[in-house]
Amino acid sequence: MPALNGKRTSKKSSDRQNKAIRYRAYPTEGQVVLFNKTVGCKRKIWNLILADRKKAWQNERKTIKPTPAQYKDKYPYLKEVDSLALCNAQIDLDQSFSNFFNNPKHFRYPKLKCKRKEHPSYTTNYQAYTKKDGTLSESIHVGNKFIRLPKMGYVKIVKHREVPSEWMNAEIKSATFSRESDGAYYISVLYEFELEAQETDNSVIDIDKVIAFDYKSDGLFCDSNGKVADMPKYFRKSEKKLAKLQRELSRKTRARKNEDPSKNYLKQKKKVGKLHQHIANQRLDHHHKKSKEIANLYDIVFIEDLEMKGIANKKRHLGKSTMDNAWGLFTTLLKYKLEDRGKILIRVDRFFPSSQICSNCGHKQKLSLSERTYKCPSCGTVIDRDHNAAINIRNEGLNVLRSEDKNITFTTAGAAGSHACEDKNKTSVSREPTPADSVHLSVKQ
Ligand SMILES: [Zn+2]
Repeated sequence: MPALNGKRTSKKSSDRQNKAIRYRAYPTEGQVVLFNKTVGCKRKIWNLILADRKKAWQNERKTIKPTPAQYKDKYPYLKEVDSLALCNAQIDLDQSFSNFFNNPKHFRYPKLKCKRKEHPSYTTNYQAYTKKDGTLSESIHVGNKFIRLPKMGYVKIVKHREVPSEWMNAEIKSATFSRESDGAYYISVLYEFELEAQETDNSVIDIDKVIAFDYKSDGLFCDSNGKVADMPKYFRKSEKKLAKLQRELSRKTRARKNEDPSKNYLKQKKKVGKLHQHIANQRLDHHHKKSKEIANLYDIVFIEDLEMKGIANKKRHLGKSTMDNAWGLFTTLLKYKLEDRGKILIRVDRFFPSSQICSNCGHKQKLSLSERTYKCPSCGTVIDRDHNAAINIRNEGLNVLRSEDKNITFTTAGAAGSHACEDKNKTSVSREPTPADSVHLSVKQ
């Protein structure tokens, strides 16, 4: 099928893809010390280069691009850590600058990094060369129980997963070593690989396998069949617990001037960090399971192209739950899981008034945010607001598909295998038409 407004991509055999596998790591005490040093040096390089660039511009109106190597004489301790980690800090800063210059409205001028706010992690790249005796020397090596990294040596890991066999000609690109707020270490290995081209007939679409989701700020989403996907109870429970821990934290003395934070404060902070991480893990786990379930069941998923930041700001009181649901994360997972299966996620224009239109007759009216039910004055339909919106998103998505490709045939599961291909220009619907079918039935006759 052709690309849809540039938003849809079809898979080619030569496409190289990137995906990471993240392993839990158990560094030794010495490795933890080196990890902290590397993160510190990475921050140092960022701050040094940033300060020098700023100075050069203010004094001489010159853009300079210093490299980490230039600072190693003045700060010899920089030599102790992985030089590629420092190079990546320089590259990140360059990127930060070009983001700012290209789009100053959206990106801020790069800021100095401080230890307290930084997420401790660094990235090192894969490099390989052939030694004189013909053996290959690699900077990153993934073994069964260890990952070898430059300067670090062998770091113990739990290899819960092998590189999938579908990843053809997989090559390591880089590795990112990080520590999460609960104190756990991870090494994420980024691979580049090819996927075998999937021969799918996209000219026949089974409309039973087309679904749309309307984003729900107090849950996760409502689909075009009227089903609501909520966040599970255990997740809500953790949230309540977190609120309690944070209240307790706010009552503890943080630190007076020139003093270290109190022991109780640090203890409580660690507890909060641990629970934060636990909630993030629960959410990720839930989103993985949910998106996998959907990717297995459906061929095409339509979602509204939402600007999440806008929603969180506009509906102030909904802001927190909007962020918590991590709709963005969910759609990212869903997108790649669908694409892995040769299926697609399509974003429908976010200015399409999905909640205002009656999904049954097309009547249009304004609805306030508090109205949870759509009551149509024209045809008398009474339907849940989110369900109505999801049906509209589905209809709009199908309309766009049809206008993109005139040869698309819509069929239902029963007809798919047998005679769907016979009448290319007809829509065969063998079941009772639902409101969702109304639009395409009227178009294709
Ligand atoms: Zn109506």
